[in-house]
Amino acid sequence: MPVTSQYAVPLPLVPYLPVRNSDLRFPVHRIYCVGRNYTDHAIEMGQDPNRETPFFFQKNADNLVTNNGDFPYPPVSKEVHHEIELVVAMGNGGTDIARENALDHVWGYAVGLDMTRRDMQSEMKKAGRPWEIGKAFEHSAPCSDVAPASEIGHPNEGRIQLKVNGEVRQLGNFNQLIWKIPEIIMALSGLFELKPGDLIMTGTPAGVGAVSRGDLLECFIEGVGEMTTQVV
Ligand code: MN
Repeated sequence: MPVTSQYAVPLPLVPYLPVRNSDLRFPVHRIYCVGRNYTDHAIEMGQDPNRETPFFFQKNADNLVTNNGDFPYPPVSKEVHHEIELVVAMGNGGTDIARENALDHVWGYAVGLDMTRRDMQSEMKKAGRPWEIGKAFEHSAPCSDVAPASEIGHPNEGRIQLKVNGEVRQLGNFNQLIWKIPEIIMALSGLFELKPGDLIMTGTPAGVGAVSRGDLLECFIEGVGEMTTQVV
């Protein structure tokens, strides 16, 4: 019998986001997230809002929820928070990318939710342990279709808003980002080799709060897009 290349277990599918108004798919490599990137959110979390070096954590690409799909309430946690975030979709990778041409590496933008098991994240923080279980769980990254930069440009200001059951809970403007998108790409590419298909969740404005089963979350980012998800 000839030896063929076979995988020992079924090959996982590559997660992807639909591209807005297109049949194209945007394949997702990694999901990087920026912590505390809006002053008013840093304050509400009891942290120093002064500009320190940006810090990062990751979610898994297969944590995405697409096409306005449901968000199943995750196990163990009693306190799951919504965090609306502007998402950057990388078209070109690299290391040590300069701030000046960082936006040339961006393929598009999306609206995302960094769903967080806050109680578990807080326990881990207190114990000096990794946040993983609070952040990188199944379905923790609902995300809209990607809007190509070739259509919407590289927006640097606009309303970012999340409603729960029709009521505004988070409201800000992404011109309030402490670390701007080119600076995030510069910092991140100094730590990791960025690849085409990487997503970067850029942080959330104030107003994070707990969700319950049945809640409808409506997300809107001016000039970028919108997304809804229901907690089930
Ligand atoms: Mn976040």
